[in-house]
Amino acid sequence: MTFSQRAAAPPSLSYELYPPARPEAEASVLSAIEELEATNPDYVSVTYSGTPARRRASIQLIEHLMRNTRLRPLAHLTCVGETRDSLDLLVRQIVGLGVRGVLAMRGDLPQDPEASRGELPFARYLVELIREVEARHGATLAGGRLAVGVAAYPNRHPESPSFQHDVEVLVSKERSGADFAITQVYFDPAHYVRLVAAARAAGVTIPIIPGVIPMSSVRRLERLAVMTGVRPDAALLHRLETASDDAERQRIGVKAAAELARAAFDAGAPGLHLYTFNDPHASIEVIEQVGLPAARTLSTPVPA
Ligand code: FAD
Repeated sequence: MTFSQRAAAPPSLSYELYPPARPEAEASVLSAIEELEATNPDYVSVTYSGTPARRRASIQLIEHLMRNTRLRPLAHLTCVGETRDSLDLLVRQIVGLGVRGVLAMRGDLPQDPEASRGELPFARYLVELIREVEARHGATLAGGRLAVGVAAYPNRHPESPSFQHDVEVLVSKERSGADFAITQVYFDPAHYVRLVAAARAAGVTIPIIPGVIPMSSVRRLERLAVMTGVRPDAALLHRLETASDDAERQRIGVKAAAELARAAFDAGAPGLHLYTFNDPHASIEVIEQVGLPAARTLSTPVPA
């Protein structure tokens, strides 16, 4: 089924970007943004993690998007290692830039057991804090409500005792004020369907947007497994390992991602979030294979 056959509101399209790690990478990120902007996404999300310099780079990337493009950023924020005051300031800074969408997460725990975990132990408290800041800034926001997203897990989060526990956590995030959720990567279409079914059964009503990754590198797939705890799909791994060159690996990754996206739409997914790794081409090929219309009507959870 292509989008044109769908009677309901068109699904949202979004991309994840990360700030350039080195000054030399800046030009390629800017050119990726230009190419992705041409596809008219509903929003682009900007990751936030690492050293203070990396976090500043995230804010700078958001500033660039706000000043120089038509794109609407969804700013990732994490509460790990932060105080309530530092988060309050950060949220106000982001709102001050004109950003109206935030993805509120805890972030990964520090490796060093001595390092501070911060004042807010879980993402749901960050959602609450964002809503408090929003309430204080009602006038600045001119009536526009911040769109607050959260992370959801088709496969058990590595620290969680069970998949069902993660579903309960998602319920708590919605109750704290989340408007939508974006999933962690997954490789089996049934895992998205299972998450949505379990979440709906538990009372979650917010949209759950599948996060899909066009994966064209064995090294990246293995690194992703370490970072997220999501086991690589054995068949995909084998196909990538035995591919003859990068072009074939890209074709394999795009095809697998397009299949996941199609299956999610068939299951009623309200949108598609593509993890781009700042490579626009694979993501654009995915949306072409899925059959997204070129002139898209925005259908976003992030208000303008
Ligand atoms: P939480 O919802 O707080 O959950 C963390 C753990 O605590 C889970 O195991 C959960 O089951 C458990 N838990 C939650 N509430 C309770 C409770 N009340 N009692 C007991 N246990 C509880 N990380 C970054 O650092 N930067 C990013 O930009 C970033 N972007 C991401 C984007 C997406 C779409 C996704 C899916 C993840 C992203 N991450 C990012 C990774 C994320 O920060 C990690 O997965 C992190 O380990 C958990 O974040 P969370 O917001 O899901 O945490």
